[in-house]
Amino acid sequence: MKKFYPDVKFKSIKDITADFFREKGIGYALLDIDNTLVSYTSPLADDNARAFLSMLSEIGIKYAFVSNNHKERVKKFAEEFGTVYVNDAGKPLLFGIKRAMRKIGAQRSQTVLIGDQVFTDVYAGKRAGLLTVMVDPIEAKETPFFAVKRYLEKIVLKDMK
Ligand SMILES: [Mg+2]
Repeated sequence: MKKFYPDVKFKSIKDITADFFREKGIGYALLDIDNTLVSYTSPLADDNARAFLSMLSEIGIKYAFVSNNHKERVKKFAEEFGTVYVNDAGKPLLFGIKRAMRKIGAQRSQTVLIGDQVFTDVYAGKRAGLLTVMVDPIEAKETPFFAVKRYLEKIVLKDMK
């Protein structure tokens, strides 16, 4: 199950500090959008997301959005930041991640992937050899499919402890 363990867990992006990135020697970040930066229902960034992304820029971290969501959503969200985005990224497959890394010139050893899901974000990041950070989902989607997924995630994360 180790391939599903995030390297580090935070409650929210609000809790991830500039020092954390400095200590880990991070220069590049791949960011999930839905339920990581904002809820599924927010088409645009909010104050929390903006503050977090400004902090990344201030400390010289290049970031890209890597989302499994469709172009319309991802493009609209990403536009105000003028940065690289990959929609329909197909996480946990690696093609979207590799594409984003290539576009921002990311070195594997200096790249963090931040997301809210074990079986897509964390698993993809681990497979790509990146530092993986997991945050609690902003808003749990209450569909049977997601309930099952969250249940399985709980098992993985319990096993991790
Ligand atoms: Mg997500």
